Amino acid sequence: MAPGGGRGFSRGGRQRSFGETEAEFSKFINKAVITEEQAGPYVPEHRFNDFAIGEHLKKNIAAKGYELPTPIQDKAIPHALVGQDVVGLAETGTGKTAAFLIPLIEKVTTKRGERVLVMAPTRELAVQIEKELAGFARGMGFRGMVAVGGANIGPQITALRHEPAFVIGTPGRLKDLMERRALNLSGFGTVVLDEADRMLDMGFIDDMRFILGTMRTERHTLFFSATMGKDIEKLIGDFLVNPVIISVKTRDTSKNVDQDIVRIPRGGDKFGTLVELLAGQAFNKVLVFGRTKHGVERLARDLKRAGIKADSIHGDKTHGARQRALAAFKEGKVSALIATDVAARGLDIPAVSHVINYDLPSTYEDYVHRIGRTGRADMKGQALTFVEERFGR
Ligand code: AMP
Repeated sequence: MAPGGGRGFSRGGRQRSFGETEAEFSKFINKAVITEEQAGPYVPEHRFNDFAIGEHLKKNIAAKGYELPTPIQDKAIPHALVGQDVVGLAETGTGKTAAFLIPLIEKVTTKRGERVLVMAPTRELAVQIEKELAGFARGMGFRGMVAVGGANIGPQITALRHEPAFVIGTPGRLKDLMERRALNLSGFGTVVLDEADRMLDMGFIDDMRFILGTMRTERHTLFFSATMGKDIEKLIGDFLVNPVIISVKTRDTSKNVDQDIVRIPRGGDKFGTLVELLAGQAFNKVLVFGRTKHGVERLARDLKRAGIKADSIHGDKTHGARQRALAAFKEGKVSALIATDVAARGLDIPAVSHVINYDLPSTYEDYVHRIGRTGRADMKGQALTFVEERFGR
């Protein structure tokens, strides 16, 4: 972790933000330079055609436009295909979802009655995984379902009666469904923990342990995490058997993201500055980060009043409302999506033009997560961080 990148801490009752000191705020400035860090692009060892997977799956992968495996896919798929436990140290944007879906779809199509449980930290990530699954599994005759909190539990109970091959959910709701006897894990031989470090951060540890504890011990476990702390090591030690550990190192911030600050002088008009920026033509798909759910909601409302096509995404909104806001943003009906850190985590939104940190992140890690929403898939992006000058820096 970078210097000063620890957890936000409380000082005089106020939550300290990352970037309040000169040394920290210099981290918000980094001109994107188009120079390759490596000698060239990653050269995978395999092509999708080399993997021991069915023709139908190969066709669906090609139909999604994937030409070559990403590093995590290249390294993890062969091991997962032969049933080995895998630890993938990789973050969103590396192609980790397909790294576990491809071998597990192969498994489900070749082993009768095989079922897979996927645990993910947020509703949005679960929905995204299911969408990706639907693309890869098109025409294969099995399905997946999403079991997340914040959505009505009734339809999820009904969907589980059909015994879908993939159940993708957040730990809290999965546990709830188990306690209601709607979900019985005895038929599940495979489990994926996606963004395990985030699940720990979000306080899901007890639910995760409960769920894993009820599964049979001779199972296949795939485990993904962006970071490897003590708690993560402990979980791996407790629940995986001789895993292959694959680490996909990425730079902490993307070289495709131009990072700069917007200084707000003492007594300056922060909101007015945001409106001016958002009115600019290039700012057509902007993710704006606020610190609290309430602040995010208010900012979206004020922006709408100022004539900006804005919507919000945070934990107080229902699952449906969050999905609608996300869809409107993806389709370009909304040009500014105002989000909290938790709600935006793991979201894959193509072609975000700008990330604006209207409120400072709590930690450097949160900053890296935020700006990772732009400059993806080799497109250039810009990250702007509002820095309020308190003492005339
Ligand atoms: P993930 O890290 O799983 O969230 O994936 C990030 C993005 O990369 C998603 O939009 C995927 O659809 C895309 N992606 C994953 N694997 C590949 C691949 N081999 N080729 C092209 N795009 C990919």
